[in-house]
Parts: sequence; C-alpha cells; structure tokens
Amino acid sequence: MLDSLRRIVHEVNNAPDLEQALTIIVRRVKQAVGADVCSVYLNDFENRRHVLHATEGLRKDAVGRVRLELGRGLIGLVSERAEPINLDNASAHPRYECIIDTGEELYHGFLGAPIIQNRTVLGVLVLRQHRRRHFAEDEVTFVMTLASQLAGAITFARTSGELARLQHDGIPQRFLPGLAASPGIGIGTAVVVYPPADLDAVPDRKPEGLDSEVADFKRAVKNVANDLDRFAARTQAHLSAEDMALFDAWRLMLESDTLIDGTLSRIRAGNWSQGALRDTIAEHAKVFDTMDDAYLRERASDVRDLGRCILMHLQNQSAAPIQYPPNTILVGDEISAMQIADVPRECLAGLVSTTGSGSSHVGILARGMGLPAAMGVSDLPVSRVEGREIVVDGYRGRVYVSPGPAVRLEYQRLAADDAALTSELQALRHLPAETTDGYLIPLYLNTGLVSETRPLGIEESAGVGLYRTELPFIVRDSFPGEGAQMANYRRVLELFAPRPVTIRTLDIGGDKPLPYFPMHEANPFLGWRGIRITLDHPEIFLTQVRAILRAAIGLDNLQLLLPMISTVSEVDEAMQLIRRAHDELLEEGYQVRMPSIGVMIEVPAAVYQAEALARRVDFLSVGTNDLTQYLLAVDRNNPHVAKLYNEYHPAVLRALLQILTGARLHGKEVSVCGEMAGDPLATFLLLGMGVHSLSMGAGSLLRVKKVIRSISKARAREVLRAALQCEDAAAVRRLLLDALEAIGLGALVRPGR
Ligand code: PEP
Ligand code: MG
Repeated sequence: MLDSLRRIVHEVNNAPDLEQALTIIVRRVKQAVGADVCSVYLNDFENRRHVLHATEGLRKDAVGRVRLELGRGLIGLVSERAEPINLDNASAHPRYECIIDTGEELYHGFLGAPIIQNRTVLGVLVLRQHRRRHFAEDEVTFVMTLASQLAGAITFARTSGELARLQHDGIPQRFLPGLAASPGIGIGTAVVVYPPADLDAVPDRKPEGLDSEVADFKRAVKNVANDLDRFAARTQAHLSAEDMALFDAWRLMLESDTLIDGTLSRIRAGNWSQGALRDTIAEHAKVFDTMDDAYLRERASDVRDLGRCILMHLQNQSAAPIQYPPNTILVGDEISAMQIADVPRECLAGLVSTTGSGSSHVGILARGMGLPAAMGVSDLPVSRVEGREIVVDGYRGRVYVSPGPAVRLEYQRLAADDAALTSELQALRHLPAETTDGYLIPLYLNTGLVSETRPLGIEESAGVGLYRTELPFIVRDSFPGEGAQMANYRRVLELFAPRPVTIRTLDIGGDKPLPYFPMHEANPFLGWRGIRITLDHPEIFLTQVRAILRAAIGLDNLQLLLPMISTVSEVDEAMQLIRRAHDELLEEGYQVRMPSIGVMIEVPAAVYQAEALARRVDFLSVGTNDLTQYLLAVDRNNPHVAKLYNEYHPAVLRALLQILTGARLHGKEVSVCGEMAGDPLATFLLLGMGVHSLSMGAGSLLRVKKVIRSISKARAREVLRAALQCEDAAAVRRLLLDALEAIGLGALVRPGR
C-alpha cells in the first residue's frame, strides 16, 4: 500500500490539471483498495452544494450532474465533521440519502475522507462497496493521505478559474492565501526564480526562438554523451563489466526517441527546452515508477539523474542575464537576497514565495525596500505561473494569479491610494520625529541585507541603528579578509557621518549559514549562532573588529553591537577581545578609538539579565524578531506556525518593559531594532514605554514618523496602559488599530481609505 501511495502521489503531483489529477486518484484508489466505487465530490461554496467531479465505478454521465445540497447526506456529514467516516452499512445510517442518479442503493460499505486545506473542507473522497465492508485502518490512512494531496491541486484550480470552468458556472475569482510579509500592492508579471539543476523547480516558459531552443537541447544532450564517454573511459579500469553496463544503459536512454523526440515535440508545442525536458523526464520516469518490479522501479531515479545532467548543461548554456519585464513580480519557492538584488529596483513590483514568513530575512529585506510581499503562499504552483499576471496584496498576504477584470480594477485603485499615501508622506522627510508634546524619538535605519552603494532612507534617517554584517560573508566562498571588510564598513560609516552607525558583529548561524563553514544542527536557532560562533573562533571576531575599528578612523561615528548574547560572560569575553584589537591597532600605529558598545537583547535570558548587561555596556538594542521567536517558541521562518508569531503578545510587551527597567537602573538607553520598530501600530507601545530610539527598514521610516508626529507621548502611554490589560495579542492589535484609525491613519497598515 505504501508503494502504491508513493506512486499515486507522484502521478497526482505531475498531473497537468485538476481534472486529470482527479481522474488518476479515483482510478488508482479504487484499484489499490479493491473498492467497487471511488468518487470525488467537491464543495461548490457559491451555490452551496457538493458536486460529483470524478468517479470510477459510477455512471460517468453522473459527473457534474449529481449535486447535493451542502451539508446533506453522508457527504455532508464528512464535510461537517472534517474527519473520515467509515461505515459497513451506510444505508442504515440516519444521515444516509440515496442518490438515484448514481445507483447508490446497491452499496453498503462507505468510507468518506474530507479534503482539507487551511482548515477548510474543499470536498470529500468517497469509497463504496456493494457488500458490507468496514475499511481497514491502513486503508483509511491511505485515503486520507491522498485526500490531502488533492487539496493543493483543488485550491489552485479554484484560484486560476479552472474549477469554475469545470463547474460550468462563474465562481468569482479567489486568492491564494499566504502571510502578509511586506505591506503594499504589487501588480505585474511573474518571473519565477529557482535553484539550479533542479528539474522540479523549472517553470514553464515560452521559448525565445524555436530553432535556438532545439539547438540548445541537442547540444546539451551531446555534451552529456561526451561526459558519459569521458567518465566511462576514466573509470573503466576500476569498474566491473556489470557496472560499466550502466553507462551503456544511460547512453541508450540518452539517445532514445522517448527522450529526444518527446522533448523536441514539447519544444515545438511551445515550451522552452528546460520545461520540455522536465515534462519528458517526468513522463519517462513515471513509466518506471508504476512498474511492479522493484528493480525496474529503481530505474526511474536513473532517468531523473540523466534529466538533471542535461538540465545542468542547458542552464550553463543559457546563463545569459534574465531580462526582467517592467513590474516584475519575483516568484519562487525560496527567494534569496541575491535573486532580489539581481532585479533592477525600478523593474521590481513585488515578491511571492511559497515558503518563509515576514519575519524571515527575505521578508525583512522586502519591507526595507518597500516591496510588497506575500510569503508562505504554499498553494502556489510555482512552475505554472511564469509570465502570468499576478497581484500581490502585501497587506493581507494574498496572491491572485491571472486576476479577472474586477479584481485587477479594485487592486489598481488600492495601489493608486497607496502611491498617493507614499507621496503624501514625502512631506515629512525633513521634519523631526517629534510627538505633539515635544518628545523626540530618533529614527535610525536598518541596512546591510543587500549590497547597495546608496541604501534607501539615507536622508530621512538619524543614522544606522543596525548594520547587519553577514552579507559579505555569505556571498563569498571563504571568509573575507580584514582589508575587504574594512572597505565595506568604511563605505557605510562615511556615507552617514557624522550621524552614528551601529555595526553589529557577525550573526551567522540560525537561518544564515555560511556555505564554506559547515554546521549541521538539528536546531540551528538554538545552536551555534552569533556571538557563540565568534567567541569560539576569536580569529574571526578579531579580524572583524579590527576591520570595523580601522574603518572608523577619523570619522568617530561608530557604535558596536553584539548579537545573541545570553549570558554576561559572553559580553565580558567579547569586551576583552575588542579591547585587545583596539590596543593592538594602537601599537601598530592606527589612530583607532574605542566605540560605544551595545548588546542585542533578543534571547529571553538576556531580558532577565538586562540590568547586569546594561551595567557592562553603553546601550541595549532589542532584537524583537528573535526575542519574539524565542519567547513564544515559534520559528520565525516557519509558515505553519506564523499565525502564532506575534509581537503584540503580552509576553513580548512585558519583556520590553523589563528591559527598559533594567537599563534605566544604569541610565543606559534602549533602542529597538527588530521589525516591531517599523510597525506603525507598535509605535504607540514603544513610545509609551519610553524606548529611546527606533531602527527600521527604509520603507517604514516615514510611516512611523507620521504616527509619532500625530500623537502625544501622554496618549501613547494611555494606549500602552490599555494594551497591558489585554490577555492576548489579538486584543492588543485591535486596540492599536482603533487607536490608529481614531487619528485617521488606518491606511498606514491597511489598504484603501
Ligand atoms: C532581531 O532579531 O530582531 C534582529 C534585529 O536581528 P536579525 O533579524 O538579524 O536576527
Ligand atoms: Mg536577531
């Protein structure tokens, strides 16, 4: 059964559309379980009914005709309960309703499994048996697993309009749900980015030119053949005749009509060579996948290996720079900072990824760039959207693929409102971030996630509150030396001088591994990260600190920040190393000065030691991204738990108060540099608490300034007091939203006016 499951899942995932996925499911499930009937009913929410969409065993003409009122019969019961129902004699059940059209009176055994996506029942997968039959436990789990596989395909079909076409009525267009990662509305053309040499990640794309695609493919095949020959010649002496036969098998596959003609005809049908190859390999591998003989089944992986080799050559050949259309919406399963940086900013209109969340570094980057983004859009079939029109609603985390005219019009209106708001905010650029009762809260910039010669927000910020230094370490294939690092830091220090620039020492680990510094950990966020790594490797830390101190010579605007501190001894050790670097540099003749030094409070342990930490350093900077993740035990990158990740959680608010109390005892200032600082709703809370400064992505500076200039500190305190009475994050958010709307600024966090 496990074997069949694997094969069916594979076939369903490769089905070109929902209709075929359903056909495969009903046919294969009926066969695997030995049932008399297997059918799929889908819920038509608009017309409040369950519709038979596919069947194997019932009359085919019943498909589309059999419609049950939503909630009626056993199908309705499965849907209502959202759990499987297994009956050996269905007709005796009080909810049983006989459907004449399908000849149901003949059946006794019944197994219905709900098809669920994001807590919504989309339909029911049903098995029927003439005789009485109670389906075995492994049969129930088998059917449930397949029902869950169908859920994604159904959701996409709903959004793309395919389901509406199948149901022959006009269901209004739906959106794909995801996480609101960066506010704004993006309307544009999907450009899919994907990791290299991954067949499954290759999107469909129109060929640039038929002849060149054909020539590319033939050349790639020839190159693989040459590689095989070379490899066979090299290994001949070491391999048995049996193993050498493998090369012959590969050669045969490579020259087979199935592979060559199959791909060429797909290219001629309008796909580019990589997409055509992907489908041919999938089809070819499927033939082996479905074989009963285990040895032959294994050959499917040879076919895929061969496909990857050809793909690698194809990708190397076509490594020409991508031509990004105006209003590019970058789409991918995982999108890296480098892929974002590759798109000219003026062409980039939005970002959609199937994984990740707003608190991941890509989400932070998008907000910093003012780029609308939805992340964790897990139902988006990335490979099928290249070139299609996409609407990203970064306020609500919604994505529309090929939107209908009504959806497009509505979002064009919202985008225009957004643009008007942005230009209105420009008037604040040179005004101070001062409350109506005269309190100044300097707003600093977070930067460093992408390499920019002139980061956004230079003019309107009071300096840099967080310069993340990981990038030059991540993009290279070895640690950057002191000189290369120094040039980098000097650039940012000079750009902002005389305003202060807070440079954070290396915070690798967690979700920022270095390719050349392998760390394999079961729980990277609880593992070797930030200061823990750099104290274990003083040579890395000293090199970086030397580079930073040297970069600041003559500018005198440097502040140093230590990440991931969880115990005072880490601060003591780091201070010793900083002093050592400082003294050595002086001895070497460099006119360096000791900078102000701060620690990040981003681990619960540091909250409770805020006082002891504040005694040791010049300032504290709260990293609410990690602090929220660690306080709430919610992985900041995991879309499955993203709903639980919430900076308004009362525990986070109380932690912030405790940090301020600790710092106050030693007269030290507290800044917030996590994403909470850039959230206009949170401004009420942070201002009310008495945080001294805020540091945020460029996209948030004017929005937060607008709130600060619209309220008094006394009002912020009042809102804070009310927020501290709330017992959960949702209540805090409602309260803040009311407070923001009361001053007419709701549009800062919600589209439309
Ligand atoms: C934070 O954790 O809040 C923070 C600012 O650091 P990073 O997002 O780089 O982990
Ligand atoms: Mg952090």
